[in-house]
Amino acid sequence: MQRVLVVDKHKNPLMPCHPARARQLLSSAKAAVLRQQPFTIILLERDGGKTQEIQVKIDPGSKTTGIAIVADFRILHLLEKWEHHCAYCGVTDMPLEVEHIVPKARGGSQRVSNLTIACEDCNREKGNQTAAEFGYPEIGARAKQPLKDAAAVNATRWELYKQLKATGLPLEIGTGARTKYNRIRQGYPKTHWLDAVCVGDSGEQVFVPATMRPLIITATGRQSRQMCRVDKYGFPRTRAKQQRTVKGFQTGDMVRAVVTSGKKAGTYTGRVAVRASGFFDIKTVNDTAQGISYRDCRIMHHCDGYAYHI
Ligand SMILES: [Zn+2]
Repeated sequence: MQRVLVVDKHKNPLMPCHPARARQLLSSAKAAVLRQQPFTIILLERDGGKTQEIQVKIDPGSKTTGIAIVADFRILHLLEKWEHHCAYCGVTDMPLEVEHIVPKARGGSQRVSNLTIACEDCNREKGNQTAAEFGYPEIGARAKQPLKDAAAVNATRWELYKQLKATGLPLEIGTGARTKYNRIRQGYPKTHWLDAVCVGDSGEQVFVPATMRPLIITATGRQSRQMCRVDKYGFPRTRAKQQRTVKGFQTGDMVRAVVTSGKKAGTYTGRVAVRASGFFDIKTVNDTAQGISYRDCRIMHHCDGYAYHI
């Protein structure tokens, strides 16, 4: 949502506002236009005021630098977690603020486990007391509970989770911070597969033999993404690629060929590249064997768009 920049009468910045709010302020003569680009209004009466916690984030580049002004995202999580109610008096439909359970001035941290949301009145009344001193000892424990679905904020992760869950296999997820904590505490190096082992409650104590190696699966596609070549104007120059099957074999299939006689006698295991002649190339771990007859080949694994290696 596009926001309108706002300054007070001394030109000190205030929180940007919604364009509808800006129109309201302008038409009631509480504000005037300070400049057109970027559109900024000046509040004629207001002198200072509280701004929400915001962050300025930059992504510097040689040609273009991105700058973003971002409201403290924790409030969104906190509103969700505390169901849009003041943690103390329970009021809702009121402006709510981020509130430190143990006040910053008394060493309280900025972590979510030390934050809650409160209405302005409660926040002021609580002042420099902890939540317990203010008469709410249970709030500290509630704040330490993990954010609901925090691990699944990312859409891809969520989809992966759903699909794995649908298999009916027992599935465990956890937060990234927990995983890292578990992994480091047990002295395992940073790799994706060891991180997966260290996920969640059961990841607190795991045993991975030093000799164990992961199976690495790489998405390779089925070699049909580029449908045809184009000329310099972008017009099709060749026919669309078609997946070719020769004698029941496709390029990319894993095959094992046993050649019993002749110069090429031997056993070859690897990916096949089919040729119309029926004499194929097989890419083994070390080498490529050329001109192997389809008669000597057996399919071990059909090309499924992934490459596998240990
Ligand atoms: Zn309140």
